[in-house]
Amino acid sequence: MPRTRTASTRIMRLEAEPLDLPLREPFTIATGRMDAVHNVLVRVTLADGTVGLGEAAPFPPSGGETQATTLAALADMTALVEGADAVQWRPLAHALDASFEHQAAARTGVEAAVLDALTRSWGVPLSHLFGGAETSLRTDISIPIVAPAHVRTLAAEYQARGAATIKLKVGTTVRADLERALAVHASAPGADLLLDGNQGYSPANAVHLIRLLAAEGVQPILFEQPVHREDLLGLRFVAEHAGVPVAADEAVHTAADALRVARLGAAHVVNIKLMKAGIVAALDVAAVCRAAHLELMVGAMLESRLGTAVSAHFVAGQGGFRYIDLDTPLLIAGDPFTGGYTEDGTLYSIADVRAGHGVARRA
Ligand SMILES: [Mg+2]
Repeated sequence: MPRTRTASTRIMRLEAEPLDLPLREPFTIATGRMDAVHNVLVRVTLADGTVGLGEAAPFPPSGGETQATTLAALADMTALVEGADAVQWRPLAHALDASFEHQAAARTGVEAAVLDALTRSWGVPLSHLFGGAETSLRTDISIPIVAPAHVRTLAAEYQARGAATIKLKVGTTVRADLERALAVHASAPGADLLLDGNQGYSPANAVHLIRLLAAEGVQPILFEQPVHREDLLGLRFVAEHAGVPVAADEAVHTAADALRVARLGAAHVVNIKLMKAGIVAALDVAAVCRAAHLELMVGAMLESRLGTAVSAHFVAGQGGFRYIDLDTPLLIAGDPFTGGYTEDGTLYSIADVRAGHGVARRA
């Protein structure tokens, strides 16, 4: 007999609006520069009145999505989302993936809002849905491509804030990046150094940079995506010759990408970002990595507290992530949200979240 009663978890409304936020300073990486955050706030309302929030963080320099394409995609997703039951979040994510494959940030915003609404309706923290493994995590802090003098100021400031790991954006020239990496080491000698090339290097230059650093007694803990995302053999060359662990970031969006990296032995680590894949797809990427003994890293585009909280629940819920790069709320001037996690320096705790991801719009 067909159900005549509307399920309390049926999605009645999907809404989206621009989420524009100022940055403390321009954020420059090897592939481009962002002067402000142009994200999208996603809201779903269930039949029982529960509201869930999600954030889409399109990052044009690496994802190919913009705020405008995200808003357009979300408008087109309405027909698939409204009327669906939030309980069926996996088939909903697959349906969105089938029709909006290249709008991963928009899909992530919807998936986050749906899972937030569902877990709020159930009265459980979002992290419990992902496994409930842990309740805290410690993030690194990133320094974008800026002049060496400014690198020194930021590195000292971040070490004072308790950063155990400082991530430096590189991928310009070997000489300039060497000077900046040594500046981090000199100003924050107690912090581990993580390099992110954002596809800026040739394989040979990536290895050259690591050798020059070694000659100065500096050993990065990880070198993220030194070469172009399509150059998996180049990535493997760096992984085999640099003498430091190498991570695939831009090279891995889907589980199939992760499998390719694993088969080639192209990297030691995969940087998983919800905005590259969608939440359900990111769970699949993590599963492939575990099976292939690739280490797990989590990163972000330029998410506010809202998107960061979703990633924190995703990571803490599953557990086992070795590298945590969820510092982007620290780069944003002002915070339009509250809750989701509490922070003590670079340590995030989700222990106090009672339902959903716990983030609310600041009044
Ligand atoms: Mg990266």
